[in-house]
Amino acid sequence: MIPFLDLKRINKQYRKDLIDSCTRVIDSGWYIQGSECDSFETNFAIYCGTKFAIGVANGLDALKLILLAYIELGEMTKGDEVIVPANTYIASLLAISDAGLTPVLVEPSIDNYLIDTNKISELITNKTRAIMPVHLYGQTCPMHEIQTLAKFYNLKIIEDSAQSHGAYYNNVRCGNLGDASGFSFYPGKNLGALGDAGAITTNDEKLADMIRVLANYGSREKYINLYKGSNSRLDEIQAALLNVKLNYLDTEIQHRREIASLYLSNINNSKIVLPNKPIEDNHVWHVFVIRYKNRAHFQDYLLENDIQTLIHYPIPPHKQNAYKEFNHLSFTVTEKIHQQVLSLPISPIQSIESTQTIIDIINKY
Ligand SMILES: *Cc1c(COP(=O)(O)O)cnc(C)c1O
Repeated sequence: MIPFLDLKRINKQYRKDLIDSCTRVIDSGWYIQGSECDSFETNFAIYCGTKFAIGVANGLDALKLILLAYIELGEMTKGDEVIVPANTYIASLLAISDAGLTPVLVEPSIDNYLIDTNKISELITNKTRAIMPVHLYGQTCPMHEIQTLAKFYNLKIIEDSAQSHGAYYNNVRCGNLGDASGFSFYPGKNLGALGDAGAITTNDEKLADMIRVLANYGSREKYINLYKGSNSRLDEIQAALLNVKLNYLDTEIQHRREIASLYLSNINNSKIVLPNKPIEDNHVWHVFVIRYKNRAHFQDYLLENDIQTLIHYPIPPHKQNAYKEFNHLSFTVTEKIHQQVLSLPISPIQSIESTQTIIDIINKY
């Protein structure tokens, strides 16, 4: 079986370094908000090119804390609206509704599955405060158009970079393309911890400080609570593991690009819609997503031939029970995407031979 993603083998490559880093933490006697977290925050901010990075518990919290910090800073109030693509993973919407704000869904473009910037203006009301572009599948959104809209309507840009660590847009890395960005280090993400973890990047010092306080019980000074905060801290063990894995991120991305380029040049089946060839290095191929009308049959065929695939995602957020208030809405592009997409195996350790096997089997279908 060619697995979709073999995390065990990916992490095994760094086994010694990972164990050494855990040993360091265990022996230090300091397990939360210590030197590993500090150094990961510094390293990750340098990687993204931002002034600040704040480690938090997970990607959902990262996005939510940005919004909650804007609320405490008086930039947003409960009930305000945030524009978000309808085909994103549900976490983007949950961050908005958990913060007491309203997600306003916009269709993606069928060409690249990213937020359709032509459809944003018509959704802007006097309650709109932000756009949340999601760099879905590892590819950066058309940020020039989004930045122009945000400037014109005076909106914040909150990037959801959970799938796109390291992706560029015009030589600027994601995380540094808006006012603030949320990252996830869920184990299966391109930069994955060995548990839950997340981070926020920003160049805004006031925002960074407020996020830090809110993620630590609303407290700057022990036992002095300024806000109704929460507990969302990045623990030392995960930070130490991430410090190891960050060193290999660019090499891993390069390998993903090689696999993607093999798929793009060699899959030859007129019924399959391949992703577009990306412009330069604006894609880190978190997942390699194709479209096929009769997906179920095609997925079964691949499985019979020992190829594991996944669907990102089978049901859009507006059709989930969790968002009953949106169930009546219809987003035709989004629904078509959810009916047809299929993610082929891709990973930093997938061999050229396995990739060729997958290509041959697809071309025979
Ligand atoms: C994974 C993901 C998140 C949430 O990250 P967690 O660490 O799982 O909370 C948010 N948005 C997108 C697009 C994601 O893929």
